[in-house]
Amino acid sequence: MSAMSKHTPPRAYFHVHHEQMWEWATEPMENRIEYIKKEKPTSEIDTRLRLLKEIPYERIKSLVDTKGQYDAVQRTAWEQYDAVERTAWEQYDAVQRTAREQYEAVERPAWEQYKAVERSAREQYDAVQRTAWEQYEAVQRTFDMEALHRELCPDCPWDGRTIFP
Ligand SMILES: [Zn+2]
Repeated sequence: MSAMSKHTPPRAYFHVHHEQMWEWATEPMENRIEYIKKEKPTSEIDTRLRLLKEIPYERIKSLVDTKGQYDAVQRTAWEQYDAVERTAWEQYDAVQRTAREQYEAVERPAWEQYKAVERSAREQYDAVQRTAWEQYEAVQRTFDMEALHRELCPDCPWDGRTIFP
């Protein structure tokens, strides 16, 4: 809420903006006047300042009073909403933070455990695989596959790299 409607009575003006006949001020009118003088096209300034005027309280007494009552009710209702909302948010935030901390406390050691088991299993696999491969290669080395190929694959275009030289 702006400073204007804080606790001062509402004030109504004609032609605060050029497409609205009248409206309630939402800020001190000096601000609007300053803005018009600074930012509006030169050709519009005189007209805007001439037409911008407060509607006398005496002419709209009950309207101003009713608007003041509305403002007060609205402000109080908003403050109540805001207080309830903030409390609810803080409660949610606390639960959420606690839950996250608990999750991380449980998750981290589980992850470490997974990594340790995986590393050990991998080392075992590597050791078994390497030994078995070495045994296989030792046997393979005893075979002369080049000679076997020459004998068993006559008229072969294989040139050592491709059958399509
Ligand atoms: Zn061949």
